Amino acid sequence: MTSLIKNASTLLTMDTTQSELTNADIRIEHGAITEIGHGLTGADETIDARGCVVTPGLVNTHHHLYQTLTRAVPGGQDALLFGWLQTLYPIWARFGPEEMFISAQIGLAELALSGCTLTSDHLYLYPNGARLDDTIAAAQDIGMRFHPTRGAMSIGESDGGLPPDALVEDEAAILEDCIRLIDAHHDASDGSMVRVGVAPCSPFSVSRDLMRDAALLARDKGVMLHTHLAENDEDIAYSLEKFGCRPGQYAEDLGWTGPDVWHAHCVKLDGHEIDLFAKSRTGVAHCPCSNCRLGSGIAPVRAMRDAGVPVGLGVDGSASNDAGNLVAEARQAMLLQRVANGANAMSAREALFIVTRGGADVLGRPDCGQIAVGKRADIAIWDVTGVESAGSWDPAALLLAGPTRVKHLLVEGRQVVRDGHVTTIDLPRVIERQTALAQRLMG
Ligand SMILES: [Zn+2]
Repeated sequence: MTSLIKNASTLLTMDTTQSELTNADIRIEHGAITEIGHGLTGADETIDARGCVVTPGLVNTHHHLYQTLTRAVPGGQDALLFGWLQTLYPIWARFGPEEMFISAQIGLAELALSGCTLTSDHLYLYPNGARLDDTIAAAQDIGMRFHPTRGAMSIGESDGGLPPDALVEDEAAILEDCIRLIDAHHDASDGSMVRVGVAPCSPFSVSRDLMRDAALLARDKGVMLHTHLAENDEDIAYSLEKFGCRPGQYAEDLGWTGPDVWHAHCVKLDGHEIDLFAKSRTGVAHCPCSNCRLGSGIAPVRAMRDAGVPVGLGVDGSASNDAGNLVAEARQAMLLQRVANGANAMSAREALFIVTRGGADVLGRPDCGQIAVGKRADIAIWDVTGVESAGSWDPAALLLAGPTRVKHLLVEGRQVVRDGHVTTIDLPRVIERQTALAQRLMG
C-alpha cells in the first residue's frame, strides 16, 4: 500500500542538513519513506497536512509505564527521590499482570497523542506474576515501536538496599529471564518494532556483580544497556560512600559505557564524567520534568551537547512527572537550559532535534528519528491552525506555543492517531479499567 502525506505547511525533516520544506509531500511504502517532494500523486491513501507542521515521530528514551497507575499519590507528591521511592514501593508490590498491561496501554496512548512513535520502557519490578511480556503485548496492540528493558532489583532492605525484600529478585533468575526475553522478542533488523534491553534498576538497588554480568550478557546478545545514574545529590553520596567513587567511574569500571549504553538522568555528572561519556559515546536520557518534580536539579545538557554526548529526552515514570506528554517535555528541556544558562542556551529547533533525532541516536536507531528517503515512516502531524498557535510566525511555535496534542501520527506507515484520537485500541474502555485498578490500589 502507498500513502501520501500532502501539502505539509512546514516539514521539519531533522535530516543531516536539518532541511525545512514548505508545501511538501511525503510518499510512504511498506512502512518506509520512499519520496519527498512537491505535487506527488498516485496513492491508495492520502493524508491532508495543510495547516500542519510535520516532524519525525518523537522518541522517548526513559519511562516506567507501570507508574501511570500511581500518579499524584499522596505522600509521594513532595518527597525527594529516596523518600518518594519508599512511599511507592509497597503500592507497586501489589501490581500484577493486568496492572502492567493496562497501565502500559494508558502510558503508550498518552505518548502517542503527544507525538511519540518510538519509546523505551524500564520495568524493574515483577510482583505477582507480572512479566515484561505484558508491556510488549500492550505496545503491539497499540502499534508503537517499542524498546522495553528488563529492569531488576536485587538488594532489599535486609541487605542494606532501598526496596522492600518482597520486590527484589534472585540475580541468577534475573539474568535467565533477560535471556528468555531477548530470545523471544528482540528483533535487531532494520525497521524493527521491538528491541529488548538489559537494565538493572540503579547502582543502589543491585549488586556490583549483577551490573557486570548484565553488561557481559548484553554484549554477548548484542542488545543495549540502560539504568539510572547520577540522578541527585543523594545518589552521588551513596556512590561515594558504598563504592568509593563517583557514578561515572563506577559505570566505566563495570562496562557500562559505550554506544550501546544509555543512562537516565545524569543530573549530577561532572566535567570529567561528561568527557568520559562523550569519548565513549555513552547516551543520556534527559528527563527535565521529573528532575524538576523531584527537585533533583538541572542536568548539564548544554555542556553534554557541546562535548558531543548523545542526548535524548524521556518523560520518566508518571509517578514523578506526572504527565507523559513528550512534546511538553521538549519544551521543558528548552526552558530548563535557559534557566541555567540564559535565553540563548537552547533553541526550540535544538529541543525538537533532541526529542527526535537525538533520541533515535541514543536508542541505536539510525533508521528512525528523521524524515528522509529510506528511513522508517514514523511521522507526527501537528495542526497549527488552532487557538494555541494562532498568530505564530514560525514553526518553532510548536514548542514555544503549541499544540501539545498531535493531529495525526504514523508508526511504520500505519496511522495510530487520526484527528486527535487513537485508532488502534478502545481508549475510553482502557481508561475505565485503569480507573478501576487505581481505585482498587487505593483501597
Ligand atoms: Zn526513571
